[in-house]
Amino acid sequence: MAGKRDYYEILGVSRDATPEEIKKAYRKLALKYHPDRHPPEKKKWAEEKFKEISEAYEVLMDPEKRRLYDTYGHEGVSQTFREGNFSWQDFRHFDDLRDIFGGDLGRFFSDIFEHFFGTGFGGGPAQRARRQSQEAPRGEDIRIRLPLTLEEIARGTEKTVRIQHYERCDACHGTGSRTGRRTTCPVCGGTGVVQTRTRQFFFDMVRTATCPRCEGRGWILTDPCPVCGGTGRVPKTRTVKIRVPAGVREGQYLTLRGLGNVGPWGGPPGDLLVYIEEKPHSRFRREGDDLHLTVEIPYPVAVFGGKIEVQDILGEGVRIKVPPGTPSHTKFRVAGKGMPRLRGGRGDLWVQVVIRVPKPEELSPEERKLLKAWKALEEGHHPNPRPSSFKDRLKEVLSGRGEKGEEPSK
Ligand SMILES: [Zn+2]
Ligand SMILES: [Zn+2]
Repeated sequence: MAGKRDYYEILGVSRDATPEEIKKAYRKLALKYHPDRHPPEKKKWAEEKFKEISEAYEVLMDPEKRRLYDTYGHEGVSQTFREGNFSWQDFRHFDDLRDIFGGDLGRFFSDIFEHFFGTGFGGGPAQRARRQSQEAPRGEDIRIRLPLTLEEIARGTEKTVRIQHYERCDACHGTGSRTGRRTTCPVCGGTGVVQTRTRQFFFDMVRTATCPRCEGRGWILTDPCPVCGGTGRVPKTRTVKIRVPAGVREGQYLTLRGLGNVGPWGGPPGDLLVYIEEKPHSRFRREGDDLHLTVEIPYPVAVFGGKIEVQDILGEGVRIKVPPGTPSHTKFRVAGKGMPRLRGGRGDLWVQVVIRVPKPEELSPEERKLLKAWKALEEGHHPNPRPSSFKDRLKEVLSGRGEKGEEPSK
């Protein structure tokens, strides 16, 4: 420890400096000793200086390390370093460096850290295995929405869509490197993680964080492929045929394996997830596997009963028997004529009948004559209509109030 300079002196701050003051001083010096700002013959000196201020910064910014240093000096704090002496693996303020150097950081690291660490860190079999798994991250899933009409859902359909996605870069065969060469990350030695060790009374506290240089991969590229920029993949458009089975519904999704983005650096592809979206229908409303439909019937049919025919979602005719005296808004259930189910069978069709009230100008001369006669008849029968007159009851029926409809029994 002999000859080691005082940390406070190195950063040019007083012994009771606040973290803000220390940060400010470090920032100023980090910019000053940035190796790129010095001629080649002074680079080594600048790097040493940079490491020195970073060591001081690491210690003084950590309350525990600072306390040890204040009490025992360099001897006390050296215990907290991984190898007894400060190395970049003990440095935990890469984020601060990122703030100071911004986008320049990547280049800065490759210059300075390769120099400090060389590339000979290697790693045991476990670390190599870990590296293998990190080499080829799986590509992202792609999610798209597929709007379908109820008719398409009822019959099942096939759709062709164009997808923007990442494909393997042919220029570098997905490696991301122009020469296919990768270098072990000099910061983490290929493990993908950096550890900091703090000595407490009887034990070491080890903290692990993702390596900021290689982002956990364990390796870096020194000659990125010019086509893909080093990612090993390029954006492309592809046409995908999607077979939609009958009976799907809003919110469900189909998974097309392997049709997502390929992973960077030759990683396996993600999936294409197709989310089903139901377009609103002009006549049918879907509730689960059941379909609801509203049709108008003429008043005489409601009074005397009759047969009506409607078309179901597949376009097939469905006959409904309207019994005499059917109030407006009565619902009829037609079993098995609703939406086809994904696993076979169909839901039910609910047909609500509403009594049609025509505008006078819509009537044929004969209808007009008959209704006028009926009106006169009504007025003759009830010159002073009472509240419970037929007309009032008729009004109730026409407006749907006082409904005595057959409620679904299921
Ligand atoms: Zn690394
Ligand atoms: Zn490439």
